[in-house]
Amino acid sequence: MKINGRYGRFTPRTSQQPYYAKRAKREQRAQLEAAARLRDWLDKHNTCANGCGQPVAFYDTIHYTLRHSGCCSSECEAAWLARSEAN
Ligand SMILES: [Zn+2]
Repeated sequence: MKINGRYGRFTPRTSQQPYYAKRAKREQRAQLEAAARLRDWLDKHNTCANGCGQPVAFYDTIHYTLRHSGCCSSECEAAWLARSEAN
């Protein structure tokens, strides 16, 4: 099947799958690593970077984008920036 003029992902037939085991394993490992990275990142940004204990603000639907550079509100972000600039 062509998508935007290019062929999409190739899925081997069931009888052919043993010949693609290496690729499947590699892709699974990459997927697990990406999930672990995302989990670590979310752990790191669990609470406000300013240290006020509030949960970090994300953009509405996208939970991968920090709203106030890792802080809960714009006030906290300003305080945190002032503190990091002083150091
Ligand atoms: Zn805060």
